[in-house]
Amino acid sequence: MKRITILGSTGSIGTSTLDVVRQNADRFAVFALAVGNNTELLLSQILEFRPRVVVTATESGISDLADRLVASLVPAEEWPEMLHGGAGLVAISVAPETDVVLSAIVGVAGLEATHAAARAGKRIGLANKEVLVSAGALMMAAVERSGAELIPVDSEHNGAHQCLRSGERRDVTRLILTASGGPFRLTPAGDLASVTPSQALRHPTWKMGNRITIDSATMMNKGFEVIEACWLFGLDPSEVDVVVHPQSSVHAMIEYRDGSVIAQVSATDMRMPIQYALTYPDRWAAPVPRLDWSQSRQWEFHAPDLEKFPLLRLAYEAQRAGGSAACTLNAADEVAVAAFLDGKISFPAIAEIVEETLTRVPVRRAESIGEVLEIDRQSREVCEEVLATRAAA
Ligand code: NDP
Repeated sequence: MKRITILGSTGSIGTSTLDVVRQNADRFAVFALAVGNNTELLLSQILEFRPRVVVTATESGISDLADRLVASLVPAEEWPEMLHGGAGLVAISVAPETDVVLSAIVGVAGLEATHAAARAGKRIGLANKEVLVSAGALMMAAVERSGAELIPVDSEHNGAHQCLRSGERRDVTRLILTASGGPFRLTPAGDLASVTPSQALRHPTWKMGNRITIDSATMMNKGFEVIEACWLFGLDPSEVDVVVHPQSSVHAMIEYRDGSVIAQVSATDMRMPIQYALTYPDRWAAPVPRLDWSQSRQWEFHAPDLEKFPLLRLAYEAQRAGGSAACTLNAADEVAVAAFLDGKISFPAIAEIVEETLTRVPVRRAESIGEVLEIDRQSREVCEEVLATRAAA
């Protein structure tokens, strides 16, 4: 029986992870669940999965959950232990009862706990992009020191992880990540200024949380994936290509030195990569849709338009710059995306604001997760100033 801790159990990845657990109830048990503030959904997850510990972002989340447990007539002796905040997240990530940590909080809130899990030598199913984007060097150093296993959940990196099993790392010459191109793939660049948040939230192939959906529309998400891939697989940015593939069937390809290219292909259902991260190196049956190869189909591949989607270019530049540049990129993007969703800025302004923030925050080397979080905080502050200056102009 594998005991799982899910950081972000109420989110898109978290609920899919619980579905995988549900389908394999004889082989997986939930040790702990962590959420932000959605205690309503957490309560129903507690009733179904009976975790030993739960964590909410704030103390008030715990009292809210306690009220719900009382109202649901759950006897006190059946209540899970209830913790809150960053200390709670770390505690459940390093607990000896945890075999696998599924890291699926959105944003840097999950960074410290995921790093702690790496230091504790856990298997980590990594969905939370911000972990490697903001603190890739520290995270990979912790993994190397402790022997932790970092298995990517993001479909592209998970695909690459699978492709890499067919050859030796020294023979890899290129990683090709595919991108759906998002909802504005065919929209002329000049029309992007009038795009609304609800249009940008309509992703053509994946149903995901709001931040990552907007990041997919700007192609920032693909930029983050390039950065993650460099850390995960020890690649230089020049060895990672992005191709637009609107059908989202091929997730990643690995080119070997003899010119052979291995592709990973599957339906767009996150339960497959999540399950893979939990069961690797084994493969279990999964209730995900199968591709019907008897149907005629066309797969397209195009080069991305870096002028129309400058955030992808900025991601390459940040990874080349090294140090804290990618941390600032992520922090500024989160602030700018929130401003766009609040109707305060236009869609193209997201990239402009991020680029301006990057020029204002000096690049430095963080020696600890605390320093990463400090750089993240400063970058947000600078980005807010950039936003305020633009609003006043
Ligand atoms: P969602 O917004 O759907 O879910 C985020 C989860 O994080 C929720 O459970 C939320 O809790 C929780 N959370 C937020 N803040 C805190 C906090 N301070 N403490 C504890 N928990 C918190 O996001 P997704 O599931 O879409 O994405 C999660 C991560 O995985 C992101 O980094 C994303 O980029 C990445 N990812 C997602 C993919 C997808 O298909 N969705 C694919 C690949 C990567 P609450 O509900 O209470 O707010």
